[in-house]
Amino acid sequence: MSHEFGKHMPAADLPIRPGEPVRLSGRLWRLTCGNAGVMTGPGTNSYLIDAADGWTLIDPGPMDAGHLQGLRALAAAPIRRILVTHTHPDHSPGAAALRQRTGAMLLGRPGARAPGQDTTFIPDRELADGERIRLGPDMTLRVIHTPGHASNHLCYLLEPQRVLFTGDHIIQGSTVVIDPPDGDMAHYLTSLERLLGENLDALAPGHGTLITRPYDALRALIAHRLRREARVLAALRAGLSADLTALVAQVYVDVPPALHPLAARSLLAHLLKLQAEGRAHSHQGYWSG
Ligand SMILES: [Zn+2]
Repeated sequence: MSHEFGKHMPAADLPIRPGEPVRLSGRLWRLTCGNAGVMTGPGTNSYLIDAADGWTLIDPGPMDAGHLQGLRALAAAPIRRILVTHTHPDHSPGAAALRQRTGAMLLGRPGARAPGQDTTFIPDRELADGERIRLGPDMTLRVIHTPGHASNHLCYLLEPQRVLFTGDHIIQGSTVVIDPPDGDMAHYLTSLERLLGENLDALAPGHGTLITRPYDALRALIAHRLRREARVLAALRAGLSADLTALVAQVYVDVPPALHPLAARSLLAHLLKLQAEGRAHSHQGYWSG
């Protein structure tokens, strides 16, 4: 019985078409914003859950009037609450405007006061790890703090239906940038491993289609990051000390050079993790093993 929702999830999701609502199950909808790009893939996914006491929205997306209008049109009853997974500019800026128009309660965690954070998101209540938000008699969302991509990142587990809203902790079709200092590779790996202990039927990511083999996806992501870490260590051991630009060219040979500035952020996250473990050392911008 606890599998009911998951069983009704499509085994193969529809392709993402921004602006076209997709019904993922009887009471769960996805609407993708038209903000496709290098960082956002096919665009930011917003999810709407139809529960007994009104609708719950997860990640309203950027300040995009058409998208916000689409979300309001899709909800057949008032939007009661708006949850955000984290406060990057493609996930949370629409929240304040929607709150003004709907009176919905904003839930999540405020962002760090740092560049690249949406500081307009001010939750009515900050969510605690492990707390349950009751959507109706047969539905709750459990808050799971998953720092790594962002320090304030939260995933939301729809229970008993076992659908996890993963924001940018896990996205479909790509890996996310871990950008220090708010991004932290050690935390990211711990947050991925933690999810292996949850009962999951599907992952509903912030970008891309549904992931219906959650444990395969989690294990593949962990393995991917550890492989990359091994390459970083090999590069450090092979050569003299090197700066980030030299290292990124060695470690990210599989990534197009145009993306190397982004990859350099995740590389730095790997290096900082290794440094904390005593396996890498830095001196005036040069790294050695
Ligand atoms: Zn993000």
